[in-house]
Amino acid sequence: MKKIITSYGNFLRNTSTLYRSAAEKNNANCKRGCFECCSAGFFDITLLDALHLRAAMRQVPDPLRSRILARAEEQLDVLEKKKAFSRRNPLLRTEKDIDRVSLRSARVSCPALENGGCTIYEHRPHICRIFGPTIRGARRAVHLEGCGYFKKDIPAADFPVLDNYADEEVLLRKMFRKAGRVRLIDLDTIIPAALTMDLSKWLFSTNGARNGHVKK
Ligand code: SF4
Repeated sequence: MKKIITSYGNFLRNTSTLYRSAAEKNNANCKRGCFECCSAGFFDITLLDALHLRAAMRQVPDPLRSRILARAEEQLDVLEKKKAFSRRNPLLRTEKDIDRVSLRSARVSCPALENGGCTIYEHRPHICRIFGPTIRGARRAVHLEGCGYFKKDIPAADFPVLDNYADEEVLLRKMFRKAGRVRLIDLDTIIPAALTMDLSKWLFSTNGARNGHVKK
């Protein structure tokens, strides 16, 4: 699993390089100081993103690490009280699971956000690296819906986001195969859980992977 997590880290770095150059080419960079997408509630990240983030947290120095983890634990406590999330069952398997947690955390900031900046920028999840302007393919088809603040789109010819998802899927399949599963299923989580919990045991346990949504 360590090798897969390392490959995923390389995939994330390549994604950022390609995305940055596409954003610059199309003059579609995020506005300096904007952190709205980091402070509008929790979104889903893949289990592989979660394992990568958890491993990367070892490189984050104390006391920053302690502050991030303390905020994440507090946020999970609140979400559990609101019955939006459960540490006993931390994987999001359906759109309904994802909607429940994002709706009930709508005004909550990411635990890694401090003074308007991402404190784990080098390790941030996949979606954090590619979210911003809308990415459009042929005939203006939306390949990734953006945040709405951009006047300009990024053409998929400059950042082929569907190919990028396909590359991500190769690694997800490897992760599931490593866990003894033949099929790729949707098993997502949220950043506070990724930071504070060892989710690998859920991947390897029968219950953890059982009821996920099977991808074709
Ligand atoms: S990990 Fe960083 S970029 Fe992603 S939501 Fe949190 S603060 Fe924002």
